[in-house]
Amino acid sequence: MVWLGMVLCDQELESDQRKEPVCNDCNLCVDICPVNALEEPEIKQQVCWDYAFGDDEEKQVWRIACHKCRDVCPYNLGSENSILMKGE
Ligand code: SF4
Ligand code: SF4
Repeated sequence: MVWLGMVLCDQELESDQRKEPVCNDCNLCVDICPVNALEEPEIKQQVCWDYAFGDDEEKQVWRIACHKCRDVCPYNLGSENSILMKGE
């Protein structure tokens, strides 16, 4: 549920320590992807993009049609997904 971006600068900066795990290798995201874009170590970005993003010609808007991999992730938004943990 994040967009990654970057800022370019010429300073050397130290990275922060990672405070919590961000993945437990549960494979839920891999299993739920309707187009198998996550089966390789690297995401098949074009396959995901073609399926999940694009113009909705009926509504004349750009839309995100799929985020199943993020919905199912127990670490969604960087914290434990409480709905999933309750089994709901
Ligand atoms: S957004 Fe949808 S198509 Fe893309 S990797 Fe996630 S589940 Fe697969
Ligand atoms: S669903 Fe989340 S925790 Fe599970 S493998 Fe995918 S990224 Fe990792």
